[in-house]
Amino acid sequence: MSTTGTATLSQELVDEFNPFLAMAKRFEIAADYLGLDPGLREVLRTPNRELSVAVPVLMDDKTLKVFTGYRVQHNFVLGPCKGGIRFAPDVNLDEVRALSAWMTWKCSVVGLPFGGGKGGVICDPREMSQGELERLTRRYTASIMDILGPDRDVPAPDMNTNAQTMAWIMDTYSMHVRSTQTAVVTGKPLALGGSLGRHEATGRGVMISAREALKRLGRRAEDTKVVVQGSGNVGGIGALLMHREGYTITSLSDMYGAIHNPKGLDVPKVLEYLAENKKLTGFPDAEAVPNEVQLELPCDVLIPAATENTITSKNVAKIQAKLIVEGANGPTSFPADRVLDERGVMVVPDILANAGGVTVSYFEWVQDRMGYFWTEEVVNSRLEQIMVKSFDQVDETAKKHNTSLRIASYIRAIGRVAEAYKLRGAFA
Ligand code: NAD
Repeated sequence: MSTTGTATLSQELVDEFNPFLAMAKRFEIAADYLGLDPGLREVLRTPNRELSVAVPVLMDDKTLKVFTGYRVQHNFVLGPCKGGIRFAPDVNLDEVRALSAWMTWKCSVVGLPFGGGKGGVICDPREMSQGELERLTRRYTASIMDILGPDRDVPAPDMNTNAQTMAWIMDTYSMHVRSTQTAVVTGKPLALGGSLGRHEATGRGVMISAREALKRLGRRAEDTKVVVQGSGNVGGIGALLMHREGYTITSLSDMYGAIHNPKGLDVPKVLEYLAENKKLTGFPDAEAVPNEVQLELPCDVLIPAATENTITSKNVAKIQAKLIVEGANGPTSFPADRVLDERGVMVVPDILANAGGVTVSYFEWVQDRMGYFWTEEVVNSRLEQIMVKSFDQVDETAKKHNTSLRIASYIRAIGRVAEAYKLRGAFA
């Protein structure tokens, strides 16, 4: 069997690398624990609403180009849909559908009053000017605005979209409804109703999740060595916050390679170096290590915070960490889960570990609706409360069912949506 290219991969491996199939498998296991009947399973699997729109845009060279955009609302039983909008050439309806379901479970496991949604536009932002991107964003917003709104669906940034994109969406929506509606999107600039603490929120949630898990393992920060894959919003900030808490960060990586110092990296200096040089390679006081090798370094905690499918059947046997905290979405494949379980490696799953971002997005929405803004301390302490409580609940569920934190997270997430659905009843 060759593993050199997708075209030659066996079907089994292709399936293993599909994070959405992995999520579907975990959904079925959790649904079995909950004893959900087949009808309710189908309701919870099926997206509530899917919209596909044609988005005409006048390009800088005066030609007219039509882009395709999607917004999928997987489930709005618990409240307005929440989830990002991505701009990328390979966006497709299947992917947006799956990502919107992922958001339903993520919002549910941390107890937010939101359902899950996701959007995307097929385009290549690297080939487009700022003016073209603005016109695309505004026309896409106008095309989907019947299903948007602070009480219906609240987008956020995702791949290749940012605070500026959210400002354009907010402005376009507000102009159509004839009043300023800051709560229609989150991840906005602070000057337009963004929240303090949002930028660091996912990394902070990862740090809190790691700390709570390590308490269960009876380990102290100062005796704990941590390897972090990725140095961006999640990995870089997560590593910095953990460094400040006294953990020893022995390795960090980016898409070009990893750096390693078994005595510990000076994380603020590493991030300064990265900001200046645009890559980690060449950082003094550390040896360069290939990305695949980084994951297999001796350590207590491994934090995959870059891309999906980092820990798979190909490398799981060589992973030395006793705890894995999933900063990225879908970094562990379904077959790798089983191996880690058998070896007693604790895994804090993505839908719990990286939910800090959507939690502070929820705070942003609450503040916008109140028109009253909190200090960063208040944001951080409320995030801390939600993350710790959610971790405790998932841990209790795992113990009750003698299962992993991952399956316990799905049990809680699906159970909460299922209960709300049963109480509301099927409207006919
Ligand atoms: P980012 O673009 O800020 O950073 C990604 C980092 O990963 C960069 O340092 C990049 O160089 C590195 N990287 C990319 N490919 C790599 C590879 N093959 N090996 C090693 N490093 C690699 O992105 P981010 O916002 O930090 O997101 C990272 C992951 O976390 C994604 O899976 C994202 O979906 C997920 N996530 C992000 C948030 C958030 O609020 N930013 C919330 C939840 C989940």
